[in-house]
Amino acid sequence: MTSASSDLIASLFSTLLSEAKKVYDATPAMQGFAKWPTDLTYHHQAPVWIPAIRQLTLWENNHPLHKATQSILPYGKWKQTYTEQEVGYGFLQDYGYIELFGPDGHFRSDQVRGYVGYWGKGLYYPWHHHEAEEIYTVISGSGYFEAEGKAPVTLTSGQCQIHESNQPHALTMKESAILTLVLWGGAGMAGLPKMGTIS
Ligand code: ZN
Repeated sequence: MTSASSDLIASLFSTLLSEAKKVYDATPAMQGFAKWPTDLTYHHQAPVWIPAIRQLTLWENNHPLHKATQSILPYGKWKQTYTEQEVGYGFLQDYGYIELFGPDGHFRSDQVRGYVGYWGKGLYYPWHHHEAEEIYTVISGSGYFEAEGKAPVTLTSGQCQIHESNQPHALTMKESAILTLVLWGGAGMAGLPKMGTIS
């Protein structure tokens, strides 16, 4: 376990939040998607580790939000929504996300949910859907985004993809791993994604 003080950990998460805000401020599509939450309060979360912390530690990239994410790796409450039965063993070794802000976030908010999510190179994130509306902004790496009714597109740092409520979508990491900043809003903000294309 870590010996870092809770003050240090809180300051690392504050840096992470301010770097995420800078990405939001530089990304009109995110600003159009949702207002930045005004009810954020830091909440200490017990860390939960996932195997992908190792890959994230080793992935060099100079994006400030990438580096801020690396600084909190051992302190994050890392989540994996899916079971091995749904996505396979390999997927769970190379994927995970933190809820930066939201009902169960490192910063609490009831207005909008913000995640930092990682998927390793070569992974296929199968078709899934959720009631919440969603916007991805790529922080680092790239991904091949597919969504029902849209042309597939490869997105890199700074580029966005919006998914409407219950619009099925999939993601393939063809060229690189990907690190993303994701916002969830609207009805279903407190729900979870479901595999498959039928809502
Ligand atoms: Zn989604």
